[in-house]
Amino acid sequence: MALARRHLSIVPTTTEEARPSRWFCGHCGAVTDEAPAPVARVCGECDLGLLMEASADLVPRPREPYLIVDASLAVQALSAEAARFLAISEQEAIERPVTDLLIPADAEAASAHHFAQTIMHVAAGDDELRRLVVRPADVFGVRMPLRVGVCGPPRGALLVIE
Ligand SMILES: [Zn+2]
Repeated sequence: MALARRHLSIVPTTTEEARPSRWFCGHCGAVTDEAPAPVARVCGECDLGLLMEASADLVPRPREPYLIVDASLAVQALSAEAARFLAISEQEAIERPVTDLLIPADAEAASAHHFAQTIMHVAAGDDELRRLVVRPADVFGVRMPLRVGVCGPPRGALLVIE
C-alpha cells in the first residue's frame, strides 16, 4: 500500500532512494503503517508509548527486544522484552549509557569504539541500517545480532536485538 512506501521523513534525504518506513510504539512495539496525526502520537494499543517512525526493515518484530538511545548513548526507552532480557527495570535503564547494558561480543577495544561510534552516527541521523554483534554487559559467551538504525521523532538510534 502507498503508506507503507512513504519515505523516512525524519532524516533529510538528498536522494529518492530512501527506504520505506513504518511507525512503532516506543513502549510496547505495536506497529502501524499509518502516520499518526501530530496530536495522536500516543500508541492506541497500550496508551503509554509514543509512536516513532523507523525504516520498515528496522522496526521491531513481535517479541524482539529493543532500546532507543540518543546521540550521547543514553538510553531513552526500552521495550518490556528488553527489560526482561537485560534483567533491568525501565526506571533503572533510562538515561544510563547503553554501554552499561550492551557491549560488543568480542572484547577488543576497537570493537567497543566501533559500537559507540555506530550508535552516535545513527542517532545523529545517518540513515543506514547497521548490523553489530553484541552481548549483555554482564553475560559472557553470548553473541546476539543487533540491527541499528535511526528512529524518531525525537531522533535517536533504535537498537533491535535479534
Ligand atoms: Zn504501545
